[in-house]
Amino acid sequence: NTFAEIDLGDLLNQNIRRCKYVKPTPIQRHAIPIALSGRDLMACAQTGSGKTAAFCFPIISGIMREQYVQRPRVARTVYPLALILSPTRELSCQIHDEAKKFSYQTGVKVVVAYGGAPINQQVVIPSSLLRELERGVDILVATPGRLVDLLERARLSLQMIRYLALDEADRMLDMGFEPQIRKIVEQMDMPNRGVRQTMLFSATFPREIQRLASDFLSNYIFLAV
Ligand code: AMP
Repeated sequence: NTFAEIDLGDLLNQNIRRCKYVKPTPIQRHAIPIALSGRDLMACAQTGSGKTAAFCFPIISGIMREQYVQRPRVARTVYPLALILSPTRELSCQIHDEAKKFSYQTGVKVVVAYGGAPINQQVVIPSSLLRELERGVDILVATPGRLVDLLERARLSLQMIRYLALDEADRMLDMGFEPQIRKIVEQMDMPNRGVRQTMLFSATFPREIQRLASDFLSNYIFLAV
């Protein structure tokens, strides 16, 4: 019933202690070992349940092992290994802040790209974000709309994505993001089908979420705590 009993590695455990997390919450206790075993996961989780750590810890732990995998060398193109999609700018920023604390001193780089201000029908990607992307990204946190813009305008490829987390999936669908989510996932399917691990978190499970799960997840475990 402690984080030390879960095989997350010393560095991550140090960061967890630094965040003053002592005991895993129920969703963390169940989801983290499943995710570490490599299985896809659909989890029922409310805000405040500790779901952010439940998907961040296995992603960071996995990337620490895979950080040095060879990524394609295409001029100035960035190939993140993990993608976390969330419905709003606020939530994306919160996830980014937490993920940065969890990955302190691990060498894992986390970048957030949130929904932006359209100017004259065109969404302007801030140059600060473009520069940050150019310096390299392991974990990208984004809202679906902004990510679609980025994929059209920045040298960003999803071909190396090994971990995909969909946070508050029901809210993303309520906000009309399903076409964007499908477009995003299509871009990571081709070369590494079967390599990607997908985790879907949602507070409710209407038919649309079940359909998303059967389209994006393979042989997944359903978790309700
Ligand atoms: P979340 O549901 O991921 O938004 O987390 C809700 C809040 O609980 C956040 O402020 C977390 O930092 C905090 N939290 C998450 N897991 C734990 C834990 N195991 N122990 C203490 N606080 C936690």
